[in-house]
Amino acid sequence: MVERGDKIAVALSGGKDSSALLYIFKKIFHNRNDLEFFAIAVDEGISGFRSITLRNAEKVAKGLGINFYRFSFEQEFGFTLDEIVSKKFEQAPCTFCGVLRRKLIDRKAKELGATKVATAHNLDDEVQTILINYLRGDIARLGRLYGRRAEFVPRIKPLQAVPEKEVALYAILVGIPIITAGCPYATRSFRFTVKKMLNEFERKYPGTKYSVMRGYERLSEFLPRAQQDKKLLRCERCGDASASSICKACEIIEMMKGT
Ligand code: SF4
Ligand code: ZN
Repeated sequence: MVERGDKIAVALSGGKDSSALLYIFKKIFHNRNDLEFFAIAVDEGISGFRSITLRNAEKVAKGLGINFYRFSFEQEFGFTLDEIVSKKFEQAPCTFCGVLRRKLIDRKAKELGATKVATAHNLDDEVQTILINYLRGDIARLGRLYGRRAEFVPRIKPLQAVPEKEVALYAILVGIPIITAGCPYATRSFRFTVKKMLNEFERKYPGTKYSVMRGYERLSEFLPRAQQDKKLLRCERCGDASASSICKACEIIEMMKGT
């Protein structure tokens, strides 16, 4: 995943997974002069939660001697996630949060000259995403999971085969501070229900998460790949690459303007 000359933007939330990932990069590649790593943290504007994890993110990055950049929804889009949630739109907070965070990270990584964005998605996250797409019958998205679109900064997920519990264990063993505060909106998401279900399965039938992942890997050879090769459009508002004439982030901005 890491290649000669890479300049890697690590999406750092300050939680155990992204902190562990940054730590691992530093540990493995500290004597590679051709590589560069920096951390991007996003403040979505979730009161009582994000400020705590961001403080930790900055501490972790500085402790490792890695450049730390912090950006916020408020500066970039003009509103916080809390403000979006207060409008009581139909969609769950995570839907807005995910779209805007991805947009912000991609945009800033590009501006800062990154060749790749590394995220700390672990096995649990990946398996949840696979199952969510199965449950929603979203085969197009299922096929795109490991796809790469030329216009976006390529993403790497070095922890994608490591169970969440093992990442946590590693973080504890190497002395990364574990934050116990959780996002107040997490329980409202579809993902939360899927996560609980998967953990229950894993407890009763150990190995379930790996089975879902392996099954998906085999199946993915047969999934339609057309979307990846399809030429992306330009968003009419922001000019970024988009699957439709107005990108999802700009749709959210319009929704907020209309309230
Ligand atoms: Fe955003 Fe949802 Fe994660 Fe909270 S749980 S930070 S709302 S994606
Ligand atoms: Zn746009």
